[in-house]
Amino acid sequence: MRALVVTSPRNAEVQEVPEPIAAPGQLLIDVERVGICGTDVELYTGEMAYHEQGHTHFPLRLGHEWAGRVVAAGSPDDESWVGTRVTGDTMLGCGHCDVCQTGHHHVCPHRFEVGIRDGWAGALAERMLIPTRFAYAIPDHVSLTAAALVEPGGNSLRAVRAAALEPGHRVLVLGSGTIGLLAAQFALAEGAEVHVGGVREGSLALARTLGVQHTWHLDDLADGRANEFDAVIEATSNDRMPALSVQLTKPAGRVVYIGLSSTPSLVDTRDIALKDVTAVGILSASPGLAGAIASFASGAVVPDPVVSEVVSLAEVPSRFEGQRGVDARPGPKVHVDPSLA
Ligand SMILES: [Zn+2]
Ligand SMILES: [Zn+2]
Repeated sequence: MRALVVTSPRNAEVQEVPEPIAAPGQLLIDVERVGICGTDVELYTGEMAYHEQGHTHFPLRLGHEWAGRVVAAGSPDDESWVGTRVTGDTMLGCGHCDVCQTGHHHVCPHRFEVGIRDGWAGALAERMLIPTRFAYAIPDHVSLTAAALVEPGGNSLRAVRAAALEPGHRVLVLGSGTIGLLAAQFALAEGAEVHVGGVREGSLALARTLGVQHTWHLDDLADGRANEFDAVIEATSNDRMPALSVQLTKPAGRVVYIGLSSTPSLVDTRDIALKDVTAVGILSASPGLAGAIASFASGAVVPDPVVSEVVSLAEVPSRFEGQRGVDARPGPKVHVDPSLA
């Protein structure tokens, strides 16, 4: 089968690779749609921290935001999955350690991460494997685009849950990338007054078409403002934004950190303590996957507009380098259809 293989930093090509075979407890998936994100770009360039920490190595098989159909099961007990449309958790906890046993498999120290960590081949391929215990069925009436947005959706939903919004609360989402825009949509679904801060006018315009009431250029937010929002969700890769988030939050408000910068982002904890602010960190979609599927299935959130284009495996390296097709729409997310030649 064909798969995208990243052979060394900034070098990727479509290669013919061995067909995966489902072991007991695993499902073989025909991949129908894959999203690419900032994590993939950092893995491709070699900048992602896991390279330095020894958690990931070239050659790399990327892809962790995906949807597809089960074509085979490695265990007779799992035959009922065959034909089901699914997505899967990225965080494959060991299932045995303390962390897993207490329900936090997404931060298991022994985990694989699909397409990211410790060599579990990702979804940028015609087929892939997922342990059955990490597969999630997706109703057929959910669009394929939305199905492949369940992973970023689960991240965004967790960020919104951590913001503890109530109807009428004013929330600021910093960042107009995929996570930021999806978080804005989930916050709108909660009845909040939603503000989005970003730098790209196209993304801010898209946020407004999604129903966001107010958009801000980041420079205007940084300009001496304070104590304006019940909650701030920080979803940028800008190392100055975590401190600004605390400044912009009202006393006794909440700050949610889901963005990661490539350099240390410094926060003065006195600013958190003296305002009695609750600060929460979010890693991964895992506890939000089921909720994201439910919101997409009910129509409470329609995430499809965040996708700008659907490309082939061979076009992925150019997208990692920041190029976009001439017909690309304004959304931040690029999707891949591995069946395209
Ligand atoms: Zn991602
Ligand atoms: Zn574990």
